[in-house]
Amino acid sequence: MDAHGAIARISLAAIKHNLAQAKRLAPYAKVIAIVKANAYGHGDLKVAAALEDEADMFGVARFEEAQKLRAAGIRQPILLLSGFLNAKQLQACAHQQFHVCIHQFEQLALLETTPLSAPITVWLKIDTGMHRIGISPEQVDLALSRLSKIKQVIQPVNAMSHFARADEPKQRAITEAAITCFNQATHGKVNDRALCNSAGVLAFPKAHSDFIRPGIMLYGITPFSEQQGSDVGLRPAMDLVSSLIAIRQHSRGEPVGYAGTWVSPRDTRIGVIAIGYGDGYPRMAPSGTPVLINGRRYPLVGRVAMDMATVDLGPEGDEQVGDEVLLWGQGLPAEEIARHVNTIAYELVTRLTSRPRWEYI
Ligand code: PLP
Repeated sequence: MDAHGAIARISLAAIKHNLAQAKRLAPYAKVIAIVKANAYGHGDLKVAAALEDEADMFGVARFEEAQKLRAAGIRQPILLLSGFLNAKQLQACAHQQFHVCIHQFEQLALLETTPLSAPITVWLKIDTGMHRIGISPEQVDLALSRLSKIKQVIQPVNAMSHFARADEPKQRAITEAAITCFNQATHGKVNDRALCNSAGVLAFPKAHSDFIRPGIMLYGITPFSEQQGSDVGLRPAMDLVSSLIAIRQHSRGEPVGYAGTWVSPRDTRIGVIAIGYGDGYPRMAPSGTPVLINGRRYPLVGRVAMDMATVDLGPEGDEQVGDEVLLWGQGLPAEEIARHVNTIAYELVTRLTSRPRWEYI
């Protein structure tokens, strides 16, 4: 018996392949590789180190995430996607060569009044329909004019926007309108421009412009809910595995697990997997959610608990305690599990807890 707990097995080769695929799709664009939220659960330092020679820049959401990459020796420019919060952070951004995103006039005012130790690169974030953060298209000229007067800002500034619905094939008109809006607001007025998340890279070639900002596709996952990564030439980068820690005979009519949500319709064998919501596997995974054991699919049955999940192995078979169980990854796309759980694969990979072991291959 060689049972183990959960392991997130990460293929850095797959991540490199996926970046190369993004570059093949957008051959004239440079790449801002998005490694926020611990590289979507894949390990930001490992991923950034693996992509150092391939990515032109890295993108993160939080100041602390950028600092962590710098402290680990990542030398590329790092873009703070949601900008800075105060004058102190702005000064640190200039000092550490972080590119900042300006998405509201309060930040612009700080930039006008805060002395910096080095010139800073600015990306003006424009709201083209997400209506979350960003300068409205009508105010872009005012913002650009104010930015052009700030000596410590590298001129001309860059511009970016973020699609709200590029992952919805039936809503192409909305993304087309966002692209037109962005082009009208920025054409001939800025240095580099960046619009495309993974869905934009995959579905809107005309919007690739100077830089693309792929996130989820680097990890081998498609942003489109009806597809999986392999449909668009991607390789899943994370295998979430664990092992069988018990196999028990189970009688017809008996329930399994908390609240007895599943009652067996026949005599069978129940396998117990060392995985649970304490590892980040979703508690909401219903009976019927597949797992892979020795290349065969089996359905989860009963409630997912903190440390264990149960699987119907059927009345007969050669499964053994210690066998490895794949929860998602190669051969069992995270996108498919996400559909069972009624969420998106982004959430599955990103919300692993610190309990699994991370292994890099
Ligand atoms: N650009 C920005 C501003 C983002 O917030 C994100 C992620 O949410 C991305 C790019 C990458 O998006 P995706 O993971 O869908 O490629």
